[in-house]
Amino acid sequence: MRESAPATDNSAQPVTSLPGVGAALAKTLERLGLRTLQDLWFHLPLRYEDRTRLTPIRDLQPGAAAQVEGRVEAVERGFRYRPQLRVAIGDDSRATLLLRFFHFNAAQANQLIVGTRLRCYGDVRRGQHGLEMVHPQYRRVADSEAAVVEGSLTPVYPVTEGLSSPRLAGVIARALQRLPQDAELELLPAELRKVYKLTSLRAALLYAHRPPPDADLAQMALGAHPAQQRLAFEELLAQHLSLKRLRSRIREHAAPALRGDGDLRKRFLAGLPFAPTRAQQRVAAEVARDLARPAPMLRLVQGDVGSGKTVVAALAALAAVESGAQAALMAPTELLAEQHYRNFRRWMEPLGIEVVWLAGKLKGKARTAALAQIAGNDEARRAQIVIGTHALMQEGVAFRELALVIIDEQHRFGVHQRLALREKGRVADNVPHQLVLTATPIPRTLAMTAYADLDVSVIDELPPGRTPVNTVAIAKSRRADVIERIRAACAGGRQAYWVCTIIEESDLLQAQAAEAVHGELTAALPGLSIGLVHGRLKPAQKQAVMDAFAAGQIALLVATTVIEVGVDVPNASLMIVENAERLGLAQLHQLRGRVGRGSVESSCVLLYQSPLSAMARQRLDVLRETGDGFRIAEKDLELRGPGEVLGTRQTGQMILRIADLARDAHLLSAVQRAGAALLEKHPELADKLIGRWIGQAARYAGA
Ligand code: ADP
Ligand code: MG
Repeated sequence: MRESAPATDNSAQPVTSLPGVGAALAKTLERLGLRTLQDLWFHLPLRYEDRTRLTPIRDLQPGAAAQVEGRVEAVERGFRYRPQLRVAIGDDSRATLLLRFFHFNAAQANQLIVGTRLRCYGDVRRGQHGLEMVHPQYRRVADSEAAVVEGSLTPVYPVTEGLSSPRLAGVIARALQRLPQDAELELLPAELRKVYKLTSLRAALLYAHRPPPDADLAQMALGAHPAQQRLAFEELLAQHLSLKRLRSRIREHAAPALRGDGDLRKRFLAGLPFAPTRAQQRVAAEVARDLARPAPMLRLVQGDVGSGKTVVAALAALAAVESGAQAALMAPTELLAEQHYRNFRRWMEPLGIEVVWLAGKLKGKARTAALAQIAGNDEARRAQIVIGTHALMQEGVAFRELALVIIDEQHRFGVHQRLALREKGRVADNVPHQLVLTATPIPRTLAMTAYADLDVSVIDELPPGRTPVNTVAIAKSRRADVIERIRAACAGGRQAYWVCTIIEESDLLQAQAAEAVHGELTAALPGLSIGLVHGRLKPAQKQAVMDAFAAGQIALLVATTVIEVGVDVPNASLMIVENAERLGLAQLHQLRGRVGRGSVESSCVLLYQSPLSAMARQRLDVLRETGDGFRIAEKDLELRGPGEVLGTRQTGQMILRIADLARDAHLLSAVQRAGAALLEKHPELADKLIGRWIGQAARYAGA
């Protein structure tokens, strides 16, 4: 609830309240998420240009940007290869600089005549005939005009089509004139600013938009200036507080205390062909303890690929069943959900437990029957465990007594989806417990921020008998060798995956790419039984292929990344990943987790298209060097940034505008401490901070 704004609070005033901003410009600004004065204040430059001085041409250094002023000495239009305009300018330092334009119109060319005085800004580079600037920004300077330069560094803003950075800079400058004094603007109490050595917000914003001529540009480029750090701190604090708030709001509810007698769990464990690892036991006990309380559990279980999270999930579900309630397990893909469904049926049916399947593709009578079981209409066949995709959250799905929600592979879902499923189980003031499983280990620093609303348990041990996967990176030009390697492996009774990756999100294009590879391999490997699975197949078709692969009837499985999560065929010991350079580390680690599940020595071949970028090379190196999901996640964060690691692209979960979790990780423990202090002493300020930062972020997420 927004409090009524004090008279001095102009932060929510629309951009159109500024002189010169009409409806058309407002619409363009809206595309950048800029609707209010406050939006403009917090729209920070991407970088800065130094136009506070003129550099004599003689002193120019290649590789750096500079501003120069000189007279046109010669103009030449060339047409070698492509049209080109070459303009030589000279200044009092008696040196010449070449300006080169490849795109220009007649008017422009006509303006650039010998004797004209120009002021140019651009990157200096070494050309064939000395130093040059390609497509510099320039303007003509009248002879009468003094050599006045800018008084501060020039901000370069993120812009959108139809809006130039200088124009946006003008609008923001006008908005900054309306920036209130600290008394109205500042939300961090003085004592807190003192402890964490934070400048005032007003000073930080003014500095970030218009750094003085002597500002350290290198430091600013790293976001390391105290003004920038102050803003990042506040944003991270707001994010942290909003998750804490979310958590405490959930904690105000009650949840059914699931204190079953443990009988089903005992029988389930007795039926498993293995004993749980110590780590599984510890985490299962943590979960059981949460479930036994009359307050909603909010727990994230992290465990590397293959660490055995499903067993922990099954034990939790059984605790609900023992108490006469229902548990739901939601997975991000149909393939994974189906696999869970089969596992759970295999485990649960001997115990007399009714497991029900629900996915979007389930239609007609089968769907009606499943819904009736879930709603508990048919007492005799009441669903006790429900497994499915996000279809579980859809309208029309009503649970009879949902006491536990389990979400597998959390990073594919956002906070909002998590909450939506929880609402399904809501009865009066009672909400279900929540267990979230993720195979993408979240680096500690990130977990503290992005998952501040969850308790975390870690399965830090793999079941015994796993063999490390031997990983190699091979250029695509050696594809034939790789195919030969498959032939040899399959001749020896092993099974292999060939994973096709293309960047397009479209199912169709991915399927087509996989079909093409399937055709090619079928031709290259006669006599080998080769299967194909992709997202366009009907569930029954997919299942038939997976079953045949699991049963060893298919030797080589060509697949899209649908097999990324969860698929479990222990005899498969060779994996080829095509275009590995295009995938993120976490995704590659997931894929690789499909092999190395049995006792045979396994390998993973990362096929790449040369030449590799330095970044791609580093990524592949990390995978070759380690199989430790946590180390890989840390590296991933370092190389790619948190948005990608958390999958915020899909989920809109946490959109940071100023802070950068990798760069600003050192702030996080202070942010946590400051957050706790603020909630204790100034909860009203915490609300305002959340309103300032998250109210807007929600809109960004929808954009
Ligand atoms: P993930 O954590 O990646 O979801 P799974 O739950 O799919 O891992 O388990 C991977 C494989 O390991 C499965 O075949 C599972 O049956 C097996 N498994 C799980 N726990 C153990 C254990 N304690 N000992 C041996 N195998 C186990
Ligand atoms: Mg799993």
